[in-house]
Amino acid sequence: MNVKLYNTLGREMQDFKPINEKEVGLYCCGPTVYNYAHIGNLRTYVFEDLLRRTLEYAGYNVNHVMNITDVGHLTGDADEGEDKMEKSARETGRSPAEIASFYTDAFFNDIDRLNIVRPKTACAATKHIGNMIGLIKKLEAKGFTYISGGNVYFDTSKFDRYGELALLDRQKLRAGARIAVDDNKKNPADFVLWFTNSKFENHIMQWDSPWGSGYPGWHVECSAMSMKYLGESFDIHCGGIDHIPIHHTNEIAQSEAASGKKWVNYWIHGEFLLMDKQKMAKSAGNFLTLQTLIDKGYDPLDYRYFCLGGHYRSQLVFNFESLDAARTARMNLVERIAAMKLESDPTPVENLSPRAKELLENFNNGLLGDLNAPKALAELWQLMKDKDLGVADKLGAVFEMDRVLGLRLDEAEAPSVALTDAEAALVRAREQARADKDWARADELRAELLEMGIEIKDTAKGTECRKSVNR
Ligand code: AMP
Ligand code: ZN
Repeated sequence: MNVKLYNTLGREMQDFKPINEKEVGLYCCGPTVYNYAHIGNLRTYVFEDLLRRTLEYAGYNVNHVMNITDVGHLTGDADEGEDKMEKSARETGRSPAEIASFYTDAFFNDIDRLNIVRPKTACAATKHIGNMIGLIKKLEAKGFTYISGGNVYFDTSKFDRYGELALLDRQKLRAGARIAVDDNKKNPADFVLWFTNSKFENHIMQWDSPWGSGYPGWHVECSAMSMKYLGESFDIHCGGIDHIPIHHTNEIAQSEAASGKKWVNYWIHGEFLLMDKQKMAKSAGNFLTLQTLIDKGYDPLDYRYFCLGGHYRSQLVFNFESLDAARTARMNLVERIAAMKLESDPTPVENLSPRAKELLENFNNGLLGDLNAPKALAELWQLMKDKDLGVADKLGAVFEMDRVLGLRLDEAEAPSVALTDAEAALVRAREQARADKDWARADELRAELLEMGIEIKDTAKGTECRKSVNR
């Protein structure tokens, strides 16, 4: 299967060709664990999960690495503000390590609930300080750094291709178009590799280094850890679009300056989730967590379905009406599949009928053309509603599709609520009537049960009852 992806580097659709034939190195910028992830952050992780699952579906082994930022990410991405971890620690009276551990667990709990496959390697920045120092030493030896005001800076004027990913204009950069708030910088775009006792003397997290006791800048962690786990050149790097102009631009500069090689071949970025036309952000105070949705009665997979309804490169506006629509559609799907499962087992994918294969192929075409999840979902519904296709074929194809969609459709069960004694007695009476071949009585009892919201199905395994629940 051929996967096409839109590469931010070059701004074009490209056929995906990994460095090694069947292996894919995938690095995704992970959470800064100073607070809960909001559903905007989670949209990005759902998109990255769709990418990983699609690559696996297409037959690749994916070595998926994600960092956990537990030091160095300041409240501003361009070295302004305070370390987010330290700020959270100060505000709550807990240690940065306690904060990190608590929110890392919360993050994994969220992604598990969204059926996002966990990365093969999740690496915490504080556990890789030695790798970061090693990288900075390499950059220093090659003349890409300078020390100013006690910090070690990356000199962007020494790296010719600086800003290529973000299409930054070098002339404008030199003239200071990007707001430079740090007088120690030679060029406005320069960034900190290592903070020593400069502006944050009370920083709790500090490590010894050749430049004095201090802590790493945020960007350096992703370069050092991705190269440790995926090598000096690998296939795909992902993140939200906000990372293009600063974080990813700086990651490229320091990685390629250190290795002298092209670092990443495909840069794939997810668009933002908006809340009332505004970016959802913790700083804007307009954010929702997954737990808030759960507390309001939604299933995390309703949110996953909602995310799949928008293409990852388009902005998606969140509101509860749209989430309700996603929930209704997902429940409809689950109920249909649950009913189908009572009728038949799925056809193994290799034995699907030509018609089922054709519909599955339509789904693949949607998906493999730059992860078009809305199109893929539409094809799934096309299959569900197909008049000519048998139940076993439908199930076989839909379970195959769900390897990528991750909606846990194979676990679909009709929502059932235990029958009361009186209801169970009626079901038994109907079974007796059937055994006595008293069809009129059996039908009468079925109608009576239906009236009470209980649907009856006679299967090879016996009577199946489904009691409708109010949702
Ligand atoms: P952070 O935890 O702030 O480092 O962000 C984690 C991920 O979420 C990054 O890839 C961001 O680009 C992404 N992100 C942040 N805000 C949003 C949003 N409103 N919608 C989608 N992704 C976002
Ligand atoms: Zn990163």
